[in-house]
Amino acid sequence: MPKKLIIADSAGVCFGVEEAVSTAEKILDENNNVEVKSFGPLIHNPQMVDILNKKGLSVINEIKKNEKGTVIIRAHGIPNYEEKNLKESSLNVVDMTCPIVKKLQFAVKSLSDNGYFVLIVGNENHPEIIGAKSYANDNCLVIKDKNELNKKALKSKKIGIVAQTTIPIETFWDVVGILKTFQDYEIKIIDTLCDDIHNKQKESKEIAKDVDIMLVIGGKNSSNTKEIATLCRQMNSRTYQIETFEEIRELNLDLKDKIVGISAGASTPPWLIKQTIDEVLLWE
Ligand code: SF4
Repeated sequence: MPKKLIIADSAGVCFGVEEAVSTAEKILDENNNVEVKSFGPLIHNPQMVDILNKKGLSVINEIKKNEKGTVIIRAHGIPNYEEKNLKESSLNVVDMTCPIVKKLQFAVKSLSDNGYFVLIVGNENHPEIIGAKSYANDNCLVIKDKNELNKKALKSKKIGIVAQTTIPIETFWDVVGILKTFQDYEIKIIDTLCDDIHNKQKESKEIAKDVDIMLVIGGKNSSNTKEIATLCRQMNSRTYQIETFEEIRELNLDLKDKIVGISAGASTPPWLIKQTIDEVLLWE
């Protein structure tokens, strides 16, 4: 058995993911004869997406002519031009974009409409940022962190800055700090960070400091889970991101007499966390 198990209170699904999944399940239960699709994977957890898929939810990435049925917009949101196409199609659209992602989209739009060059701190390939960027009509730049901040790439001295909802708080405020030192620039800051994620990051780091082995459960395609694992790894090199409990043995980890910490990303369902806890507690 492990010596001790510490589980993060904040581990697991956030309200945005909870809402998207429960709404999809409700629609699937009610619509026996209607096709139900999500535009892009509903959430970034392959095991949960697989279960929804077995219940009848298919994933589409483009709208085909005369497509019928109900389409659910994923929690990370989609670009405004795709939303327009969906609304003009014959599909019944259910928008499950998380309200915090919506806040980011509105912030980008309002900054751009008011003449600001929009600086987004985040990952430009993440669906949330591809969606948010569309609201700036190309009047924007995405940078990963302060190392990518280059004055020459800013096309105006009137800058509005926002963040991908799930990036570490320090990554955003480090960029803001440097931006504020630029002479003659007008800077407008809109904090679009997600509190739920920051609680997870903070608590997970605290736990990682005090354990022998840290397990972070969540999709390999989940950027918030990856971010939690990266932050934990900075505290404890024996941090492992796993999707399912089976990976503990695949990684040849030995939990006997160890202090084990467990955290999980915002799209990790409770049953995946429970399976891992059971595996750890029953470790011989
Ligand atoms: S992590 Fe935060 S921003 Fe992302 S879906 Fe959940 S509540 Fe919304």
